[in-house]
Amino acid sequence: MKKNYLLTPGPTAVPPDVSLEMARPMIHHRTPVYMEVFKNVNDGLKKIFYTKNNVYVLTSSGTGAMEAAVVNLLSPGDTALVVNAGKFGERWGKLCEAYSINTIMINVEWGKAVNPEDIRKHLLENKQIKAVFTTLCETSTGVTTDIKTIGKIVKETEAILIVDAISGLGAEEFRTDDWNVDAAIAGSQKALMLPPGLAFIALSDKAWKLAEESKSPKFYYSLKKAKKSLVEEGQTPFTPAISLVIGLNKALNMIQEEGLENVITRHSKLGKAIREAAKVMGLELFAPGTPSNAVTPLKMPSGMDAGVLIKKLKSKYGVTIIGGQDHVKGKIIRIAHLGYMDLFDIIIVISAIEMALVEMGYKLELGKGVGAAQKVLME
Ligand SMILES: *Cc1c(COP(=O)(O)O)cnc(C)c1O
Repeated sequence: MKKNYLLTPGPTAVPPDVSLEMARPMIHHRTPVYMEVFKNVNDGLKKIFYTKNNVYVLTSSGTGAMEAAVVNLLSPGDTALVVNAGKFGERWGKLCEAYSINTIMINVEWGKAVNPEDIRKHLLENKQIKAVFTTLCETSTGVTTDIKTIGKIVKETEAILIVDAISGLGAEEFRTDDWNVDAAIAGSQKALMLPPGLAFIALSDKAWKLAEESKSPKFYYSLKKAKKSLVEEGQTPFTPAISLVIGLNKALNMIQEEGLENVITRHSKLGKAIREAAKVMGLELFAPGTPSNAVTPLKMPSGMDAGVLIKKLKSKYGVTIIGGQDHVKGKIIRIAHLGYMDLFDIIIVISAIEMALVEMGYKLELGKGVGAAQKVLME
């Protein structure tokens, strides 16, 4: 017998209470029962996004809401500034390209965060820029972006600020309205503790002005349609992912019960525990400057392959983490501490990594990393 532990930055573990809610008999969505649930969900989403605006619920993985941002806010031939500091920043670029948006890329070395002043420079030099695309937590590199500062810079211009907060929302501090974020995006399978299948997007008034002008093709992801349906009927334009919305209602209640700030503090503490453990285990942080509360990438000891470690963790210990992408494939491991996780999830993953590394011939005193993590977790 072997238990399974999921520590990936999406999908994440789903709490049994959420799974049970979703297992109940199907209901129809044009009913008072569903509409009550959906209303609670809308209120809960506003709280977690820290916005007074509506948060639209889309049936897709997170990328669907990214696509919705591009097709609803821009038109072919528009110019956008894209921060590319990893795979998800790169995705913004690809999405813009797919819809004939001219993109100016700010390429940031993997493991580093964008300097907000570079964004200011581009905005001053190029008045054509209509939107700035960024990522709160760049999941591929474990870097958190300084959205608050970027928001202050973009606010002073005609451009809007679009933030992929898919892995960051509910793990990092993030204030949509206070930080002047014009489009904030999240997904269900990260800190919101649900299976994949829902995406969320909140728009500011400044963003809606651009939405009125947008000429990009859209149908399923039309946010104007979503707004009309929500405002006039408290509904979505098409059949919602009913079970997931019901699960979300439960998950949001759990988050409210714990307290949003406590949820963020918990994530921060789990991240710190991993980093302290890594230090004594001789594993270098991939992004030491701006570590994320959601996921921690660690460099492999020299000469050791991340793929071998990841495979061993899964097959022998039932622990699932992931590796790096592109040029850091094989060189880093990424441990998520995101969503439905507490201190003992961290102890398990560190303990398993210690055992697997020793089996691979790495010189390490068993329990050292675990001890360092315990010290943080007891604080
Ligand atoms: C998970 C993730 C996404 C969305 O990916 P999907 O597979 O479409 O859900 C986008 N951006 C970031 C930063 C992510 O972590």
